[in-house]
Amino acid sequence: MSPPERLDAFLPQARIAYFSMEIGLANDIPTYSGGLGVLAGDTLRTAADLDLPMVGVTLVARAGYFRQEIDAQGRQIEHADAWEPGQHASRLNAAVALTLEGRQVWVGGWLYVVKSRRNGRIPVLLLDTDMPVNHPLDREITHHLYGGDEVYRIKQELVLGVGGVAMLQALGFNLIGYHMNEGHSAFLTLALLRRFAYAAEDLRPGEIPYDIPRVRDLCTFTTHTPVEAGHDQFDYGLVTRITGELPELDTLKRLAGADRLNMTRLALNLSEYVNGVAKRHAETSRRMFPGYAVHAVTNGVHSSTWTSLHLGALYDHYVPGWCHEPELLSRADRIPDDQLWAAHVHAKQDLVARVGQVTGVHLDAAKPILGFARRMTAYKRPDLLFNDLGRLKAIARHYPFQVVLAGKAHPRDEGGKLLIQALHGHIQSLAEDIPMAFLPDYDMDTSLAMVSGSDVWLNTPLRPLEASGTSGMKAAFNGVPQLSVLDGWWVEGCIEGVTGWAIGDDNLGANGSDAASLYDKLERVVLPLWYDNHAGWVQVMKGAISKNAAYFNSHRMMRRYAAEAYLR
Ligand SMILES: *Cc1c(COP(=O)(O)O)cnc(C)c1O
Repeated sequence: MSPPERLDAFLPQARIAYFSMEIGLANDIPTYSGGLGVLAGDTLRTAADLDLPMVGVTLVARAGYFRQEIDAQGRQIEHADAWEPGQHASRLNAAVALTLEGRQVWVGGWLYVVKSRRNGRIPVLLLDTDMPVNHPLDREITHHLYGGDEVYRIKQELVLGVGGVAMLQALGFNLIGYHMNEGHSAFLTLALLRRFAYAAEDLRPGEIPYDIPRVRDLCTFTTHTPVEAGHDQFDYGLVTRITGELPELDTLKRLAGADRLNMTRLALNLSEYVNGVAKRHAETSRRMFPGYAVHAVTNGVHSSTWTSLHLGALYDHYVPGWCHEPELLSRADRIPDDQLWAAHVHAKQDLVARVGQVTGVHLDAAKPILGFARRMTAYKRPDLLFNDLGRLKAIARHYPFQVVLAGKAHPRDEGGKLLIQALHGHIQSLAEDIPMAFLPDYDMDTSLAMVSGSDVWLNTPLRPLEASGTSGMKAAFNGVPQLSVLDGWWVEGCIEGVTGWAIGDDNLGANGSDAASLYDKLERVVLPLWYDNHAGWVQVMKGAISKNAAYFNSHRMMRRYAAEAYLR
């Protein structure tokens, strides 16, 4: 264990507070469930690289998200994934109190420090209600990431937003902005409203009793959800029952919706800078929320975190400085073809070995591997590849290929769990024709192994539901081209035959014919290129690196947030 971190070192510099319900800090810290958390982690890793003065705020999630086991029938079994914060973080010596359901709840926390290879450091506060002074029920509020019922969820969001602002103040942080990564933390605006309330004697009748422009000026909001139903909406009565600390209800309804407290509306109305996570997603958000200026800051991934050691060593040699300035990867043409291919084969052998160890399935590194890993849920269509098994087998007879799959379904997403079972059915029934494996317990480590060790990265969401998607960007850092539906970032990233390939066309009505298009592309374009034109294949690998990794990285993303949102 390293010596305890000292908070004092972080206090003198004015900072932006970055709030996220989940943050992927490290593979063995289960405070993330998927893309949103990994993006938050990449955001803070990049802030550390760029010396952007930020402080992260999240919940400690002592019981983690969950560890996934798959039984012989392909059913997902969920285990608690507890971790010990004291092994990675140091205790904050401050606590703040909230009143929840009439009880005083103390919120303490932990300091985790994100460290850059360039010596930059970013503090992250992990809020924790598991303190002996609290009622036993309240000690569990910060335990489970995305667990529990609606009441539990509201309490978590109050601890994150209201508790987070109070904790930053109690510790003595000097803040020049607040960035809400998705609407879960939007209650922080209520704490700010209270801070900037007008004295009653200064008000004219009917006037809003808060300095709203002042709060707006401090806030940035990034929305990630392209469907209305995906946004947290709570009953005003329920929220009022849980916390008596709401601002005056008339004002709140003007800010968060007349009927229900919509966390996205609250964040939209109280943020001067609002953005979606890809150009297409910003367009969808503008249609969903007419009247708001929704900018587009397309996501990116963190260079060194998402590049295998094999490719990283090659970049160090041919494009030195790429970690800090991933734009340099636009010079990937300098890398000799045979060396790029050899580095890829190393990453592939690592994946083949991992698949063998974990699942007992023997894959052949001399044949192409299709990779697909993400949250298992209906709109991501993990079963699209298996739409027509006869056609799929016919393709594999001509051009043998293999498939590696992974992903967790949210414990309450029964449809997602059925998809995992269906995938296992396909793995068994196709075993003679197409070697396939499902790696259980998808996490950041598995993700890197898969995006670097596959030959083609597959993504098949239902348009327009993939706000951005980031695993295909990670693949690009490893010279792995993507074959994907034109949604999210791929609308911007796909140059047909140069950086990868599109499934279907750029038309929202095309979802129904995507399976046929996927088979056509595999059979006529992707697999023939892999088998029959090695130089052409390596050229596409270089296209993915030089055109996509060079752009869809979090250094570019954070420079934009800094210039357009934080320093506006
Ligand atoms: C990158 C990543 C994701 C996000 O992948 P998408 O393509 O955006 O769905 C999810 N989970 C883990 C563990 C990841 O590393």
